[in-house]
Amino acid sequence: DAKTAGRNGLRFFDPAMQTMITARAALEADLREDLKQERLLLHYQPQVDHEGRLLGAEALARWPHAQKGMISPSEFIPVAESTGLILPLGALMLKTACHQLARWSTDPATERLTVAINVSALQMRQKTFVEEVRAMVEQTGANPHRLKIELTESTLVSNVDDVIAKMDRLKAIGIGFSLDDFGTGYSSLSYLKRLPLDQLKIDRSFVKDVLVDPNDAAIAQMIIALSKSLGLAVIAEGVETEEQYAFLAQHGQLNYQGYLFGRPLPPADFESLARAFSPRRRSKQVHGSVDR
Ligand code: C2E
Ligand code: MG
Ligand code: MG
Ligand code: MG
Repeated sequence: DAKTAGRNGLRFFDPAMQTMITARAALEADLREDLKQERLLLHYQPQVDHEGRLLGAEALARWPHAQKGMISPSEFIPVAESTGLILPLGALMLKTACHQLARWSTDPATERLTVAINVSALQMRQKTFVEEVRAMVEQTGANPHRLKIELTESTLVSNVDDVIAKMDRLKAIGIGFSLDDFGTGYSSLSYLKRLPLDQLKIDRSFVKDVLVDPNDAAIAQMIIALSKSLGLAVIAEGVETEEQYAFLAQHGQLNYQGYLFGRPLPPADFESLARAFSPRRRSKQVHGSVDR
């Protein structure tokens, strides 16, 4: 039969694979439609400084699917990347984040907060990317000094000079840059000093076992030392426990992001959290690096 047809090892029909291809095609079609209808949204996860003060949020894409409920980015970002849908997705998330920044700028509890968006390599490679960002900032009235961009090392695998030129133009209007998931990719250290970065993000995978795995601890310390010598800020992502926080805090004045400080939240919940952080109540805030 067709399944075993290939004497030469070729398979013309594999039901399991067929099911997978069909499911992926359906997901792609749904994503395309929901992007057109602008149904994807952003949740906001707190980022705090070494004293536990709220700096802002990372904006993380969320897809409320009509049948499947909330689908996680780890499921749909790869589909978006491989189909080119990451471009309309990125544009929608940029627009959503800029509108949110503009709204937050009118409330004392949120006016100083930054919003960091994730920008994929494919987006960054687009000729018109800088113009699109500039236009969106103008259109929405967002303060570009409050907008941050998180890039991953995959952005740097080709045409680094082009990436640097775009970063320079965006920096010129006030936008800051973090290198996300640092240590998991292939970026060479020689690029690092050429890139106009503001911050390195220690990947969650190193933070996770920082207390039990000496290699992860060494990598985390190396990234902290490297940031310091390059004059960059450093933020640890995926901090879930007081113990992880205490370990990292021994090694420098870091910024932090993780469930210990807050989960990604819908805008209204993030605003409540920001209000709880506002100056007068600062001594009561968070888990407490200030209270400690
Ligand atoms: P990322 O940029 O490294 O984002 C951090 C991820 O770690 C988020 O997952 C966040 O919810 C999760 N996280 C944060 N703190 C903790 C913690 O303490 N413990 C654990 N276990 N996880 C934590 P999320 O929201 O599922 O996003 C996954 C990835 O999807 C992101 O990783 C980013 O690479 C990508 N992504 C999300 N939104 C966008 C977007 O708008 N555009 C692009 N291009 N990529 C996006
Ligand atoms: Mg990120
Ligand atoms: Mg990350
Ligand atoms: Mg990560």
